[in-house]
This record gives sequence, C-alpha cells and structure tokens, in this order.
Amino acid sequence: MPDGLGGPLSEPVFQRLALIGMGLIGSSLALVCRRKGLAREIIASDISPAVRVTVAKLALADQVAETAAAAVAGADLVILCAPVGAMGTIAQEISPYLEPGAILSDVGSVKASIVKAITPHLPASVHFVPAHPVAGTEQSGPEAGFSTLFLNRWSILTPPEGTDPKAVARLAAFWTGAGANVEIMQAAHHDLVLAITSHVPHLIAYNIVGTAADVEEVTRSEVIKFSAGGFRDFTRIAASDPTMWRDVFLNNKEAVLEMLGRFNEDLSALQRMIRNGDGDGLFELFTRTRAIRRGIIEQGQETAAPDFGRRAGET
Ligand code: NAP
Repeated sequence: MPDGLGGPLSEPVFQRLALIGMGLIGSSLALVCRRKGLAREIIASDISPAVRVTVAKLALADQVAETAAAAVAGADLVILCAPVGAMGTIAQEISPYLEPGAILSDVGSVKASIVKAITPHLPASVHFVPAHPVAGTEQSGPEAGFSTLFLNRWSILTPPEGTDPKAVARLAAFWTGAGANVEIMQAAHHDLVLAITSHVPHLIAYNIVGTAADVEEVTRSEVIKFSAGGFRDFTRIAASDPTMWRDVFLNNKEAVLEMLGRFNEDLSALQRMIRNGDGDGLFELFTRTRAIRRGIIEQGQETAAPDFGRRAGET
C-alpha cells in the first residue's frame, strides 16, 4: 500500500547534502532524501565511530566522512542533527570549511540557544536557517530512522532577521519535499510553543514514571501489570533519549519554567476541585480537553483508532 510520500522530485533541491549526526533524525533525513531525490549526493558524519560503521553498512549515504569538517566541504546544504548541546562546538569545527553561499541548518528541538551558540562561528557568506522538524519517536540511533518520519508533520523554520529569503525558500522546499508542512516563526516564540506542546509533557512523563517507580505501597510488578490504565502511555515518552532531553531542558530553561509555573497553578486548581468534590469543574475541564484531542485528530496529527491504534492484545 502506498505510504503517501510519493516518488522522486524531477530535480534535486540541493547538489550535496552534509548530515552531521546520524541518529534517528539524521538517518531519517538521509532515507527520505534518497527516496525523494532531494539532493544529488549525501555525505554523512557522526562523532561515534560505531555509528559511522552502521551508516556505511546500511548505505544511508554516498560517503561517510570521518570528521564533520571533511563532510561539509563542497556541500550546498549542511544540516546539524546532533544533540542540542553539541551544536556550538560543531559550528566552530566546520566554519572554516563551509562553502560560500551554502545553507547551514539544524534540527534541534530548541531554537534560541542554538542560534546563540552557532551565530558567533558563522562566516558572513553562509546562510543560517535553523529548523525543527516536530516529528520523532522514543528511539535513537541510525537504525531507528525511516523515510516517512516527517510526512504530514510540521517543520518549523526560525530564520534570524535579515536572512536571505531565497535561502529560506530553498530550505522550505527541501522540507516540503520530505513530506513536511513548513511554518516560519521567531526562535523565542518557537521555544515557548514547544515548551508547552513537547517539553513540559516530556517532563511530566519523566516525573510520573519516576514517581511510580518510587512508590513503596505499590510494588514494581503491579505498576507494570496494570500499566494499561494510562501509565503505559507515559512510559513511551519517558523512554526518550536521555542526552537529547537533558539538553532540551538545559537550553530552554526560561520557557519551560514559565510553562511549568502555569502547569503547577492549574494542577493546584484541580487538586482543590477534587478536595471540594467539584464534579462540575472536573467534568467541564475533561470535556474541553477531549475537544482538543479531537482537533489534533482532525488535523491529521494523530490516529483516531482506540488505544493509539494498538491492535487488540498488543503490548
Ligand atoms: P540520536 O538518535 O541520539 O542521534 C544523535 C547522533 O549525533 C548520535 O549518533 C550522536 O553520537 C551524534 N553526535 C553527538 N555529538 C556529536 C558531534 N559533536 N558531532 C557529530 N555527531 C554527534 O538523536 P536524534 O533523536 O536524532 O536527535 C538529534 C537532534 O534532533 C537533537 O538536536 C534533537 O533535539 C533533535 N530532534 C529530535 C527529535 C526526536 O524525537 N528524537 C525530534 C525533533 C528534533 P553519540 O551517540 O556517540 O553521542
């Protein structure tokens, strides 16, 4: 059955794409690039020798470079797909080797701190167009990638003021070719939106799974046995990559703390409703939240199948 990604474009958007960091996002980009013919040639690099071996074994790229500096030479598009905390160091390493006129982008989940870390290293002749594909899974590494990861998901571009609109349009064409919808916003606004839609939900999942593991009156085996009561869905999110999420919270501190403040206030209000037996208040909130899920399904960002589309009996 066709997966909706479609066949290759008539012309590649870029000649030579360099991907730095070949985990879930880097390998998915390589796969979709190949399938859709988004770049004539793909050069991949990763700090980890084991990852470079896997990338070569899986033939994810035309060439695997030993260093990021070697990978970017001659590339008209460079995308940094490493953890947020590594972006500044990589930018420093590659800056002398970037081609004049090349577009430098990234896929980091946080934007303002990446702009701050990368900008001081940028040669004037390079166009910097940060991006964040709002798509992912709890898996990591080069074997976790798949070509339809970005299909019908959003890719948010946060070009700093004064960025050449032609460079932004070319990167937008690349993401559209990968199946994504493109939105452009300011980095600080991105960080605030993602704090509430992604970062705080991850923190809540990490917290609830941690709490359940610590509760002494309930045994660990009972937590696992009865997990289909809701806990199981939090464990999927709480299984996300520790390096990536540590970096997200360290680099989006203000926005996360701001949203967490609001979350705590609303949680206290809920606590009061339960204590006061305010059934109407609880019912009104749960009705509103149900409508939000319906909206997400209507926009094609989630399946309407019961239990997230898990087949009966599947764990
Ligand atoms: P991943 O699967 O863990 O892959 C990251 C890769 O980058 C690893 O192979 C890592 O090697 C490598 N790396 C680390 N430091 C490096 C450096 N200095 N130079 C070159 N490679 C380096 O992570 P991912 O999920 O693909 O995430 C990558 C980026 O995408 C992150 O910035 C993240 O915020 C963003 N993102 C992730 C998701 C998601 O859901 N996963 C969604 C959207 C955006 P080691 O393993 O040896 O450290």
